Amino acid sequence: MVEVSWPSGDVLDPVRRHLRDPSYDIDVGPGWWRLVLECHRAVVAEFPEYELMAVKQRWGVLAFQAFPRAWEPGGNWTDAEYERLEAVTDAFAGRSEGMCERCGADGSLRESRRVHLVLCDRCETLVPEHGRL
Ligand SMILES: [Zn+2]
Repeated sequence: MVEVSWPSGDVLDPVRRHLRDPSYDIDVGPGWWRLVLECHRAVVAEFPEYELMAVKQRWGVLAFQAFPRAWEPGGNWTDAEYERLEAVTDAFAGRSEGMCERCGADGSLRESRRVHLVLCDRCETLVPEHGRL
């Protein structure tokens, strides 16, 4: 395996603190960790108490699934707040479409595996058929 630029997943600890379920872990490749951290910073700037459900990859796109704050019966945020949060996370989903999930270089969607992945040309040759990074 070729080394990637991040030495440790600890860089995502500020993001993990917002997880509703602390036993869940962020499920994207290291090439996207910087993007996940940037997305967290953009969200937390507007929603300091935001609640994170999951961070994963769906159809080759970053899915940063969050609520403006902890869910409560009867609702704990307005439609406008939720739409604003989605607008922020959608911008990062858009950026993920062109970023290698393994190393962070410019990439494109690869559909030859069971799992669709955004990879650069070099990582395309390194990630096996079964598809996890
Ligand atoms: Zn790559």
